[in-house]
Amino acid sequence: MKPKVALQRRLSRRMLRRSNAAHPIPPLSEKGDPVTLDDLAAQAHVAAEGLRDCARDAVRERVSDNGKLSAERIEIEQHAVHGLAWLATYVEAIKEMAAYARRMEEAGRFGETEQLLTRIGLGESLAQMFTGIPMNQGEILRLSDFGLGPDEVAPFRNAAVEALIASGNTRENRAALAALLPEAREGLLGDPGLDETFEAIRAEMRRFAEAEVAPYAQGWHRANAYIPLEVIEGLSAMGVFGLTIPEAYGGMGLGKVAMCVVSEELSRGYIGVGSLGTRSEIAAELILAGGTEAQKQKYLPGIASGEILPTAVFTEPNTGSDLASLRTRAALDGDAYVVSGAKTWITHPVRADLMTLLARTDPDERGYRGLSMFLAEKPRGADADPFPAKGMSGSEIEVLGYRGMKEYEIAFDGFRLPASALLGGVEGQGFKQLMETFESARIQTAARAVGVARCAFELGLRYARERVQFGKTIIHFPRVADKLVMMAVEIHIARQIAYCAARAKDGGRRCDLEAGMAKLIAARVAWAAADNALQIHGGNGFALEYPISRVLCDARILNIFEGAAEIQAQVIARRLLEGGN
Ligand SMILES: Cc1cc2nc3c(=O)[nH]c(=O)nc-3n(C[C@H](O)[C@H](O)[C@H](O)COP(=O)(O)OP(=O)(O)OC[C@H]3O[C@@H](n4cnc5c(N)ncnc54)[C@H](O)[C@@H]3O)c2cc1C
Repeated sequence: MKPKVALQRRLSRRMLRRSNAAHPIPPLSEKGDPVTLDDLAAQAHVAAEGLRDCARDAVRERVSDNGKLSAERIEIEQHAVHGLAWLATYVEAIKEMAAYARRMEEAGRFGETEQLLTRIGLGESLAQMFTGIPMNQGEILRLSDFGLGPDEVAPFRNAAVEALIASGNTRENRAALAALLPEAREGLLGDPGLDETFEAIRAEMRRFAEAEVAPYAQGWHRANAYIPLEVIEGLSAMGVFGLTIPEAYGGMGLGKVAMCVVSEELSRGYIGVGSLGTRSEIAAELILAGGTEAQKQKYLPGIASGEILPTAVFTEPNTGSDLASLRTRAALDGDAYVVSGAKTWITHPVRADLMTLLARTDPDERGYRGLSMFLAEKPRGADADPFPAKGMSGSEIEVLGYRGMKEYEIAFDGFRLPASALLGGVEGQGFKQLMETFESARIQTAARAVGVARCAFELGLRYARERVQFGKTIIHFPRVADKLVMMAVEIHIARQIAYCAARAKDGGRRCDLEAGMAKLIAARVAWAAADNALQIHGGNGFALEYPISRVLCDARILNIFEGAAEIQAQVIARRLLEGGN
């Protein structure tokens, strides 16, 4: 054996011992066969955490120079580094399945459907952790990518893990859940596990989405039309734009779990409508966390009532993921800032009244420290004259999906802002202020993804129950039913992770990891659900006339904005390597 290989093995063994010590694997019951699923899940979770920590230590070893994380080595090892984020996301899934099983068991709500969703979800997640996690369709993360061999991994395949894999995603369980598919209502199979208050909010949003949104979404999409202002007024009346804004500023003072429920239900109707509140949420978070009291008083009540529609103006043609290096300049000239530069991919800017605008106030500081956030008012425009403001012009970007609000590239050329538009009144805080909103924005995007996935599931299920081939409805073919079953299972997992992040946020706990994980997995789940639901439609799925063709396009965006999947994985992994868990 070469000395370097021997050294690596010794290091791995040492790391394994350390991880085992941190996560003692509890014994099974005396018979070696725990009675309840939540017991099994809890034991599997301990093992999964041990595996994650072992992988984290192995990756840390690889990407460190003299004990310090090296950016260069992190980049060379991106597959393993991002794979660590995915592995940790799966551990989060196991944790949440275990917690869900326990909560539902205790509440007497753990029925057959809930048990099957959880059992299949646990078994499949654990199986993928040990055999390969699809970061997307083409890039599979394997434990060997961390340099872990069968001997190092074996201790984490404890009896609970083996039992859950063996009794999880089996033909029998899938068939049993398939038999329960007719129970699905409004794209929902199984109890989401929330209390009556949230279910009342869900019911109200559902009624609105079914009456005012879903029947028209395909028409808006195909005509590339704006979502009608009456829909926005309807959302305003229900308090959607002020959902999480404190009552003192005119909002409803609800938390992020409520936001998840609302975003999920509205996005099930149409992603465009589910996303109308996104920019209000970002603006409100920015102002609440970084604004002066005068800015709070001035803008929050209007945002909450829906009178002020915000738009988020961050991305530039040469600056997307690497936002910290953006170049749009805001130069102080007397008592005004003069903005010059190009922005792109700005959603819903024409009908917006307020821009949260990120620009460089210090040209000598090229990194994030030179950036400031502005609350920039603008007049509403229309298609014929989108930006009736001096120093501002723009043109529409035609898009595959996620329509209804329209995306624009915008040029600023001497656009003037009063100095009071500077968020918080202090320069150089813009990037930090934006980062503070990311937890909330990512939770909301995860919820939107769950809504889109539910819409796909519902369309797939309906078609599968109607379409007849070879003398029977196609839902009776296992490969069709299995697609629906796995959609339901994945939606269940993504939803529980999103709720967990939302609960953490509502509890005032740091949740950037959980929020990032929720967004990462929910976006993949939405895309898989849309793709598989389209497959169930056969050729008809390819016809523009069928809504699933739209849902496929809508689902695709979720992996790109609010942090592309790769960036999301990078951020999660970096935190794990730095010590977060
Ligand atoms: C429909 C739509 C609506 C949008 N709405 C808004 C909006 O309202 N406001 C706004 O400001 N922006 C908006 N955006 C912009 C969006 O946030 C960006 O598209 C996103 O941040 C990605 O940036 P980019 O497009 O420049 O891609 P790039 O940053 O160029 O990335 C291209 C690819 O390279 C990968 N990549 C980049 N860097 C790395 C790396 N270090 N390691 C590995 N892979 C990497 C990315 O993951 C991606 O797959 C919107 C975009 C779309 C498509």
